[in-house]
Amino acid sequence: MKPLQPSSPHSVYDRDRDRDREREGALSKEMEDKQMKGHVLVLPYPSQGHINPLLQFAKRLASKGVKATLTTTHYTLNSISAAHIGVEPISDGFDEGGFSQAGNVDFYLKSFRDHGSRTLAELIQKFSNSATPVNCVVYDSFLPWALDVAKQHGIYGAAFFTNSATVCSIFAHIHHGLLTLPLTPETTPLLLPGLPPLYFPDLPSFLRFPDSYPAYLAMKLSQYSNLNQADWVFSNTFEELEGKEARGVSEIWPAKLIGPMVPSAYLDERIKGDRGYGSSLWKPLSEECIEWLETKPSNSVVYVSFGSMVSLSEEQIAELAWGLKESNMYFLWVVRDSEQQNLPKWFLDSVQEKGKVVTWCNQLEMLAHRTVGCFVTHCGWNSTLEGLSLGVPMIGVPKWTDQLTDAKFVEEIWEIGVRAKEDEVGVVRKDELLRCLKEVMEGDKSKEIKRNANKWRDSAMKTITEGGSSDKCIDEFVQHLMASYQNLNGL
Ligand code: UDP
Repeated sequence: MKPLQPSSPHSVYDRDRDRDREREGALSKEMEDKQMKGHVLVLPYPSQGHINPLLQFAKRLASKGVKATLTTTHYTLNSISAAHIGVEPISDGFDEGGFSQAGNVDFYLKSFRDHGSRTLAELIQKFSNSATPVNCVVYDSFLPWALDVAKQHGIYGAAFFTNSATVCSIFAHIHHGLLTLPLTPETTPLLLPGLPPLYFPDLPSFLRFPDSYPAYLAMKLSQYSNLNQADWVFSNTFEELEGKEARGVSEIWPAKLIGPMVPSAYLDERIKGDRGYGSSLWKPLSEECIEWLETKPSNSVVYVSFGSMVSLSEEQIAELAWGLKESNMYFLWVVRDSEQQNLPKWFLDSVQEKGKVVTWCNQLEMLAHRTVGCFVTHCGWNSTLEGLSLGVPMIGVPKWTDQLTDAKFVEEIWEIGVRAKEDEVGVVRKDELLRCLKEVMEGDKSKEIKRNANKWRDSAMKTITEGGSSDKCIDEFVQHLMASYQNLNGL
């Protein structure tokens, strides 16, 4: 805030003129606000893999003239810093510590629904008397209660799905009783419209083992509970990538494909300075990573990350450590603080020449670096889209939930990488990692994979560039918001 000016010998005329100018300023701000094409609250589930794509969508909307306010929990509020985006808190009932304060998924989700509904309603009311009333809530599909709140206030509600269209299609079939649980090796392959045959190992883990995480399974199914009341359904994928899959299920999941929600600098460069998502729940050590990468030859480094949620067993970490060491390749490995104690004692000293281990980084900057030749990934949907959008060949080491399905598509459908096979106790052994590293980094198959990766990168760029399929869908949404906002504001 500017310090107050000391009183100065202004004439009455000066003061009147200043007052007029102030009034004009306030008026033109009001006009500007009124001319905004709408005001959207964008509400992610408060984890890294959900905040990132929804915040990116907020930035896209803002770049097209819509006022966008990211609405997130008190606990995650400080992790957000994105230009041209407002930020407002709501409560999940655990304002000091978020999910870890709750300690239990079921308890957390119920608390978020109760406190979130109330505080979201208060926020909509707060804006209703301002120059920029809210006319739409874009909510993470994990939080369907937000649609009920939007409808109670007579405004639009748009669901945003953060999984692939394929995964959404499978869950939609289950919700509508078109498929019954549990899925077993005997009841597979699944043959669903628009989808390739899906075998047992390709299916989301919650469906293979419904008792493993009942609260998460219930949440995934609840995404469809009131979806028929949503004014829009958005999916973070794109026509060329999964149009066929989305069309196969469009009657029960009528999604508009608006992805990939990856910062603009890596795709169309239409949003100035948009090089990162603008949210980090951990401190990124990107500068030291880039310095280290700079000293390495092109396409020589293996970047390894399992995202923000996966917790690897000590045995699995040891196998990966052995595999990376024996490959003799350069590697940059993200091992979150909470996982570091599982690294073998011998590892860090013995790989100093070849490897670097960090607790967190800006993943996109790493993937975009000329020295990174391959991405060993858990195949979270954001990581998959990031690897694909940046044309980086992948080795999928999926562990749970939708990652298994994403890994199948990486290997078999888009052919931009390979999937590491687990043994009977669910561990990817060092020899398997070595086989995959050789396949993706060296030899004939690596060339074909790189060609496909470049092809998909081009496609991802085109879809979000002006006139591309995703860009058109976002424009249609903005047009609609604009028309209704003018009515709301009496213009
Ligand atoms: N990420 C990051 N730095 C890291 C590891 C991951 O910025 O060191 C980001 C990554 O770019 C992605 C998100 O965290 O956008 C993880 O989302 P994803 O869907 O891949 O996996 P999740 O964490 O939800 O399992």
